[in-house]
Amino acid sequence: MSKNKFETNAIRNQLKRSQHLEHSVPLYMTSSFVFEDAEDMRASFAEEKERNIYSRYSNPNSSEFVDKVCQMEGAEAGFAFASGMAAVFSTLAALLEGGDHILSARSIFGSTHSLFSSFFPKWNILHTYFKIDELDGLEELITPKTKLIYAETPTNPGVDVLDLEMLGNIAKKHNLILVIDNCFASPYLQQPIKFGADLVIHSGTKLMDGQGRVLAGVTVGQSALVDKIYRFSRITGPALSPFNAWVLSKSLETLAVRVDRHCENALKLATFLEDHDQVNWVKYPFLKSHPKYGIAKKQMKAGGCVVAFEVKGGLTAGQRFFDSIKLLSLSANLGDSRSIVTHPASTTHSKLTSEERAETGITDGMVRVSVGLEHIDDIIDDIAQALG
Ligand SMILES: *Cc1c(COP(=O)(O)O)cnc(C)c1O
Repeated sequence: MSKNKFETNAIRNQLKRSQHLEHSVPLYMTSSFVFEDAEDMRASFAEEKERNIYSRYSNPNSSEFVDKVCQMEGAEAGFAFASGMAAVFSTLAALLEGGDHILSARSIFGSTHSLFSSFFPKWNILHTYFKIDELDGLEELITPKTKLIYAETPTNPGVDVLDLEMLGNIAKKHNLILVIDNCFASPYLQQPIKFGADLVIHSGTKLMDGQGRVLAGVTVGQSALVDKIYRFSRITGPALSPFNAWVLSKSLETLAVRVDRHCENALKLATFLEDHDQVNWVKYPFLKSHPKYGIAKKQMKAGGCVVAFEVKGGLTAGQRFFDSIKLLSLSANLGDSRSIVTHPASTTHSKLTSEERAETGITDGMVRVSVGLEHIDDIIDDIAQALG
């Protein structure tokens, strides 16, 4: 590990220069790599050498991206995927067998929920959900078949916070693999491995790229687990493209400055909404009113880019709010330089039944804002006029 700090590593931890002595890292758009001779080819395929063979297995640009994320998360190894969902699916599919059981937080990304409930049961991989406020009773849900605990924090879209240290202790005590989707925080704000996570997953599509250009995913953590994920993935082919890896690695150079500003803007917006008479409630991890404020302070450097709130007047008022927005984008993405407003009940979480939505804290009038990098006065003005 380098003695340098996060921001420095994000910039200076780059591929060795080629014979051209370029300053910025070049793009290796190549599907395969060549061998010196027959012996080189044999030894490479026998994995006696660590080198690139074929970009489904590894590529210099994706290795650079993965190395940066490993350093940021304090992880031993990793693999880069074409999307966050490719990372979630491949990670779990590589580690689980038919008959295994997942213990998962109830509040997880909509597609991860669909994976657990609509697809994994086909292979007899079953799950039990726990509610965020039920961590105390979590151990009672562990069965002899439980292999893995899965959670996200902060959660989407409710911006709840789970106690990572507590999850880490439970996983360790019962010898379970703890997998944390750290996408909402980014490695700059939170490093789950410090609290006992074995694997950390990111959708690189969000804060890591930060400009809404590419899809990407990455899993980092213990090398013995990552090796299994690598072996599964090099055969099944979900690898990240060299171009997207190159974009991502460049994006990580500015992650710290971007995320600092995202968080500063988000806290200002959350504070503004807290005092607004058309708003029922506001949730943001670094607001003192957040039920898990203390835990957020313990495990996060700042509150992240997402603010959730409820417009007074339910669905109709919510729809009127969205139709009145002028500057911000109506979209489902987050962690973008452009601020985005989403209506979870009718979009990202529409596949859930209304009971399931209620369990995850999604109400009809709930709005999720991914606070971007525009001037905060303009962001607040747009939301204020739409609330008016
Ligand atoms: C977006 C997201 C994913 C999925 O990532 P994609 O890149 O869209 O496949 C997974 N988890 C969380 C928390 C997300 O926000």
